[in-house]
Amino acid sequence: MLKKVLIANRGEIALRVLRACKEQGIGTVAVHSTADADAMHVRLADESVCIGPPDARESYLNIPQILAACEITEADAVHPGYGFLSENARFAEILAAHNVTFIGPSAEHIDTMGDKIAAKATVKRLGIPVVPGSDGAINSVAEARKLADEMGYPVLVKAAAGGGGRGMKVAPTADALEDAINTARAEARAAFGDDALYLEKYLGNPRHIEVQVFGDGKGGAVHLGERDCSLQRRHQKVWEEALSPVITPEQRDAIGEIASKAVAALGYAGAGTIEFLYEDGQFYFIEMNTRLQVEHPVTEAITGLDLVTEQLRVAAGMGLSVQQSDIEFRGHAIECRINAEHPVTFRPSPGLIDAFHPSGGLGVRVDSAVYAGYRIPPYYDSLIGKLIVHGDTREIAISRLARALDEFVISGIDSTLPLFRRLVREPDVLAGDYSIHWLERWLDEQASA
Ligand code: ADP
Repeated sequence: MLKKVLIANRGEIALRVLRACKEQGIGTVAVHSTADADAMHVRLADESVCIGPPDARESYLNIPQILAACEITEADAVHPGYGFLSENARFAEILAAHNVTFIGPSAEHIDTMGDKIAAKATVKRLGIPVVPGSDGAINSVAEARKLADEMGYPVLVKAAAGGGGRGMKVAPTADALEDAINTARAEARAAFGDDALYLEKYLGNPRHIEVQVFGDGKGGAVHLGERDCSLQRRHQKVWEEALSPVITPEQRDAIGEIASKAVAALGYAGAGTIEFLYEDGQFYFIEMNTRLQVEHPVTEAITGLDLVTEQLRVAAGMGLSVQQSDIEFRGHAIECRINAEHPVTFRPSPGLIDAFHPSGGLGVRVDSAVYAGYRIPPYYDSLIGKLIVHGDTREIAISRLARALDEFVISGIDSTLPLFRRLVREPDVLAGDYSIHWLERWLDEQASA
């Protein structure tokens, strides 16, 4: 096994990785910015190194500083968590050049999947169904117009380097296409320094369903079922479930097999998520994330597997602890992302948490790094924590979630807890009847009510 892992992240995910390392008897190194000197992951790690000022570009994204921290502490591996450097192929390469193991796939796989045009071409070749659209980048408005006329409107203009919903614009009709291209291009250039765009058919009412895959690093791979992340605001996931309420066991086996075969054919190592839109019984690939996802705990709940430990095993060359035939899905799990934001306006609300009491009891898990007396810094994302519930059936999970939300206490700052307390009682949510547009529409209705 690995001996000492440096965790190049902060917040709940740093703690999540640290817990797995501790359970495996692996030494832990926390890195932190000056704003995070009191953070939980820093307190609990065996060693810690301050890597810079609050601005993430000078700390959590500062590759030379992180590398220096590896050298000082003699860490033999780095876990990047999610966000920050987790999908940075250059980081993976630099670590490898310094004999430090990157806990994740190869730089080549990160690169391919990080370019959504290349990713789409690659998975299509491996038999994964994709959203109809341009075969590569669109080079001119005229070219886009021709293709869009053939596909039919609405179409979606997307950035090859896209992420977090940025660089994505819908053109409902031909009149709107040129503007959509110009806006998406400008946004992509500003956000990613790469303005390559491609075109997709805009699906009217899909669900977002993603398959968790794991390559063993030895040419084998498994899938761990799907997660339904259709409840989104501004293309950001808010609520995630495993398994999806609308997928049959036969569909699960079929898409899971396609996904794991593709991953095996790539020789992929570690955790990955193949994201699909799902409409009228069909799956359409949109992207692959080459890292652990925020919503991985729902998969852990239904499979009983520790995904971070599996990542550590694969990185150490030990392969996975299970084969496909060992994997069984038990019950239903739901995760709510609780943010430090106003529950109606979504205005960020950093500041001092004066009381904090996470829910507990049977089937309840809270992944969070905050505590009463903790001050949420304004520099990073607004996630306070994730509430995950598990029950034998979806109905049990939902009533457990309602109960757990009611007892959760966060005071001193605004949080999105009240939003979830309403959502968990909405008939469409209770019925599992929602597409990726449901939440935005519901929020609009609430705002105008
Ligand atoms: P990002 O990497 O920026 O998150 P994705 O390609 O994963 O971008 O898409 C994010 C979200 O945008 C999806 O979950 C879905 O809600 C919406 N979306 C993406 N592609 C389409 C499409 N072709 N039709 C309709 N909605 C889409």
